[in-house]
Amino acid sequence: MSQTIARQDEARDVIELTEDEQSIRGLVATISDRELAPIADELDRKEEFARPVFEKLGEAGVLGLCIPEAYGGIGASLLSGVLVMEEIGRNCGGTALSFGAHAFIGSYNIYKGANESQRQRYLPDLATGKKLAAFALTEPGHGSDAMGLATRAEKRGDRYVLNGAKTFITNGSVADTFLVFARTGPTDSQARGVSAFIVERAFPGFASGQPMEKMGMRASPTTELFFEDMEVPEENLLGEEGQGGYLALQGLDMERAVFSGLPIGLIQGALDIALRYSAERKQFGQKIGNFQLVQAMIADISMQLYISRLLAYTAARKLDRGERVTMGASYSKLFASEASVKSTLDAIQILGGYGYMREYGVERLMRDAKLVEIGGGTSQIQRLIIAREVYKRAGLELT
Ligand SMILES: Cc1cc2nc3c(=O)[nH]c(=O)nc-3n(C[C@H](O)[C@H](O)[C@H](O)COP(=O)(O)OP(=O)(O)OC[C@H]3O[C@@H](n4cnc5c(N)ncnc54)[C@H](O)[C@@H]3O)c2cc1C
Repeated sequence: MSQTIARQDEARDVIELTEDEQSIRGLVATISDRELAPIADELDRKEEFARPVFEKLGEAGVLGLCIPEAYGGIGASLLSGVLVMEEIGRNCGGTALSFGAHAFIGSYNIYKGANESQRQRYLPDLATGKKLAAFALTEPGHGSDAMGLATRAEKRGDRYVLNGAKTFITNGSVADTFLVFARTGPTDSQARGVSAFIVERAFPGFASGQPMEKMGMRASPTTELFFEDMEVPEENLLGEEGQGGYLALQGLDMERAVFSGLPIGLIQGALDIALRYSAERKQFGQKIGNFQLVQAMIADISMQLYISRLLAYTAARKLDRGERVTMGASYSKLFASEASVKSTLDAIQILGGYGYMREYGVERLMRDAKLVEIGGGTSQIQRLIIAREVYKRAGLELT
């Protein structure tokens, strides 16, 4: 539905894009409109993973978006990552979520933490889409308190033996390669003592559950993972033993900045639908877009979109320059996710009763949006991070 709306080049209005960033965005916009938009509603109804779309993204090199060319990727900027999440997300939040889990928290985190031989062994298949990746941190008993994880890894000879369970793992049923976090040190809530491993689905002792039935993001399979005396060769330890927790924490800034593209896409999708509808629907003898109370909602959605872009692009650009963006990434993630929930609800309101009907696709965007206030660190956790940074910058101790 959204592809027929003529849009200003909002991204370039917010930040100057390189030629590469513009062409990647254009390429993914075309794939998203041609391949994804026509099937997005069906994917949601049937809870189906968009395998044909992933194949197209793989052929276009986009599955290895930020992986250097030396390992089969296209070496694009993290800002390109935001743009790609946006272009996929405006047509289907679930497909953007699965793409992000593969490309960023899966593959890109593996790239950042891996040694040369691990990079050569795993990245080319991930970058071309021959294999898909997932990121497995959350456990049934440990979500926000991620570093309290209970999965244990014991060193036995030349291998580690993992026992435990993970939950809510995006791509859990379709991925081949998993970045798994397990405790090798003392049981506390500290990053120290957590190790990271590259796990293959084929490892003995690995099992994934059935996709969990969800409110939204239904094109993205979410499953539990079970490790029962799962043997992981010692060469699959990522970085040093006991240092994997820092890899997870460092990856969070990247995740929060790049995944902000997802709610931005949802807002754009909702705005497109609301604009078109309000320029057609007539009540009291005139198009509803003439009513100032409807215009106020359009203005709010548009402003939330602009600010979300401003925050996300700024954070991603800083990451590309190697700067630390903990506060900026949390601002971006928090603002864009809450803006996407509000904006998709406003868009439903603009469509009135039709907005509440599945046929118009806007209620799907709203169901997808709710997840982004939860996954990757809830809105409450983002506020805690921001407040902690504010006190730190002010040089004030709270202990
Ligand atoms: C669809 C989906 C996909 C996901 N994909 C992945 C994935 O690919 N990999 C992965 O590892 N994880 C994934 N997750 C997990 C996700 O990151 C967690 O759900 C999230 O971090 C919250 O953890 P929780 O659900 O255990 O909630 P809890 O941590 O139990 O939180 C419950 C409530 O308590 C609040 N709360 C918790 N602690 C505090 C505090 N200190 N102060 C104030 N409030 C607090 C929370 O904000 C929330 O409102 C996914 C989740 C979903 C739903």
